[in-house]
Amino acid sequence: MSTKAAAYAAQTATSPLAHASIDRRDVGPHDVQIDILFCGVCHSDLHTARGEWQGVVHPVVPGHEIVGRVTKVGAEVKKVKVGDMGAVGCMVDSCGSCPSCARSEEIYCDKGDVTFTYNTPDKHFPGKMTYGGYSKSIVVTERFVCRVPAGMDLAATAPLLCAGITTYSPLKHWGAGPGKKVGIVGLGGLGHMGVKFAHAFGAHTVLFTTSPSKVEDGKRLGADEVVVSKNQAEMDKHVASFDFILNTVAVSHNLDAFVNLLNTNGTMCLVGAPATPHPSPAIFPLLMKRRSIAGSAIGGIKETQEMLEFCAKKKIVSDIEIIPIQKINEAYERMLKSDVKYRFVIDMASLS
Ligand SMILES: [Zn+2]
Ligand SMILES: [Zn+2]
Repeated sequence: MSTKAAAYAAQTATSPLAHASIDRRDVGPHDVQIDILFCGVCHSDLHTARGEWQGVVHPVVPGHEIVGRVTKVGAEVKKVKVGDMGAVGCMVDSCGSCPSCARSEEIYCDKGDVTFTYNTPDKHFPGKMTYGGYSKSIVVTERFVCRVPAGMDLAATAPLLCAGITTYSPLKHWGAGPGKKVGIVGLGGLGHMGVKFAHAFGAHTVLFTTSPSKVEDGKRLGADEVVVSKNQAEMDKHVASFDFILNTVAVSHNLDAFVNLLNTNGTMCLVGAPATPHPSPAIFPLLMKRRSIAGSAIGGIKETQEMLEFCAKKKIVSDIEIIPIQKINEAYERMLKSDVKYRFVIDMASLS
């Protein structure tokens, strides 16, 4: 059994997103049904809709930065009730029993059994792929629903579910805080959240950008210093001085320029996923200061909830541009040109 929901889907890798009708499963005992109010637009949406990543099955309904109102809950659900504001990020299920899942680090599920919010076979709906948030509603197992704290700007909260947690989690893990010098590379959807969080955690925050035009905005968002990374003299001033660098850039680039800025035992964490690999880093700069290059993926559900509470307390949300869903194809083209400050969010009231 299922119900129909209006959505926007890419029917093939080359067709633009267009109106579609999709099936949503019935609400089971542990399920939560959410009427989607806002959905953020992530680069992953575009890559998947256009079949640029492996294993894409069309039609694709993207969207994994979802905020909406809970409209129905199963008999066993305790986390939320009808009328609450709920949020769903990049995952909608995992094995639930391995050590990583037990720690609520579901994205690192030891069995690799993560059901992503879109384009993954749906174990609760045999024969179907998961469909994401470019839709009027979604049904998600309770464990993967977060509560939106009261008083938050719902549209600007949506991007926290991917761009937010993807930067919050590594900054927490590597101890960004008072007395630490933290670099954020790139000022896009992820980078602007990285700057806000590093600043809110009390770290000395330095933004690296290739665009001199972003210097003022970087400071407004909370950076103590902004370095134009193409300017070698500016880069040289920071050699061997960073405790941690969060690199959000999703295009292939030379990592050595940033490795050289890490202090002894410093780490650079990559969260961008380029289509072609970065050139292999030089090894001696790593050896001689015991530096690390690391990676991090999104964050677990418990930490996502913690992030939302932190954001509510510190009044942190994303900087967004709200669009009707009819503008989504145009928004993708603008996103490719980095012509957005700093995240598009779809107002789902525009979808009928
Ligand atoms: Zn995303
Ligand atoms: Zn697991």
